[in-house]
Formats: sequence, structure tokens, C-alpha cells
Amino acid sequence: MKITIVGNHCTWTKELSTSYILNDDTLIDVPQGSFKTLYNDYDLSKIENIFITHFHSDHFSDIHYVIDIFDKKQDKKLNILAPKGCKERMVQLFKILEVSYLEKYLDDNVTFYDCENGKTCKIGKYKIKIYKVTHKNLDAYGFVIDDGKVKIGFSGDSCMCNSLHKILKHSKAAFIDCASTHINNSHLTVDEVVSLQNEYKDVLLYPVHFSANSESAAQKTNLARTFPGQIIEI
Ligand SMILES: [Zn+2]
Repeated sequence: MKITIVGNHCTWTKELSTSYILNDDTLIDVPQGSFKTLYNDYDLSKIENIFITHFHSDHFSDIHYVIDIFDKKQDKKLNILAPKGCKERMVQLFKILEVSYLEKYLDDNVTFYDCENGKTCKIGKYKIKIYKVTHKNLDAYGFVIDDGKVKIGFSGDSCMCNSLHKILKHSKAAFIDCASTHINNSHLTVDEVVSLQNEYKDVLLYPVHFSANSESAAQKTNLARTFPGQIIEI
């Protein structure tokens, strides 16, 4: 699988928030401010699927720009995998942002798939095993994505929880929340990611969603390095 890291930080940094492109055709998360980079540095016409981990703005709120690009390419079909209620949220977002004309594109061209804990979803060439993770009390998900060649894990935003262990047990490599330096109910800490890497020695962990503090702490460990624009072949 070819994984492009579009961004690997959290909101309170100068860098882009966390999102990825898989095999040039699947976008995971559409953070606020990401569209400028997506539009200028990547070929959005190749995108066939968008997977949304949860509805926080640093994972979702530039989605209307991507839809606007697709709306201009008539008959461009799109699959969206997201927590329940995604279409309704998008319609509300379009209304707030005065782009309600995009609603018709959703009706005519988008197939929505709902995230559900433990469900396996087949979308195009991908088999996605879906896990509800613990991120405050949000409806938030992580994935194990199989492209027919390899299974790669994505924690989304998550603190330490059982689903995280299940994701790592089934993945060859995993992109994992590493936003914090103190244990909390939203995100993983650098120390927790290091302990997971020691526990799952056969799974290469790529820490993402960095804050300034967690990034400098991670750089003092043996964890793999990640950066915006990085292309990883697994
Ligand atoms: Zn979040």
C-alpha cells in the first residue's frame, strides 16, 4: 500500500492536521485548512473514497471544498465511510457555508457507508474493519484497511483502549495518535505509543497528530519519524 501523509499534526501547531491518501485513490480525513494542500499538491480527480474517523473540525471541516471540486466533474462517483449521520451533517455544513447547491451532488453521486464497531465494510478494492475507539465521548473510529496486499491500521484520534489493541493485532503497520505528553481520555501520549511499540514489535508504528510538545518528545525516542508529504510504501 502506498500511504501519503498529507499532514501529521494536531490543530495547535503551524503544520497541517493529520490526514492521509492511500494508493492515490482514498482520502482519510479532511482537516480544516487541508484543502489548499490537497488541491495544489495532489490529484484529487483520482480520489474515489473518503474515510472520516470522526467529526471534529481537524478531521472533517474542509470536506465541502473537496465536494465542490467533484461537483464540477459531472458524474464523478464517490464513496464516503463515516460515523452515522454524515450526510445530514454535510447538508448542515453546506447551509452554514452558503453552498447548499452541493447537496444535489450528495444525492446523485455519493454512496454513504456508516461506521459501526466490529463491522467489516467492502468499498472498491478495500476491506475495512471498523473499530470504535475512545476519544472523549465521541462517535470516533479507527480502521484496519486491507487493499488486497497488506493490512494497515489507523487509530484516528484515540486514547488507550481495547480497540487500539485489536487494530494493532491485525495490522502490519499502523498510524497512531501521539498527540499528548500527559495521559488523558482523548489522545495517546508518547510514552504510551513507545510502550505499544515495545508490546507489538512486529507492527511498525508511525506516530502522528503531533502537538509541538509531543513531537519533540517523540524525537527523543526510537519511534519511526513522520512528516507532511511523506510517502510510505508497505
Ligand atoms: Zn478529535
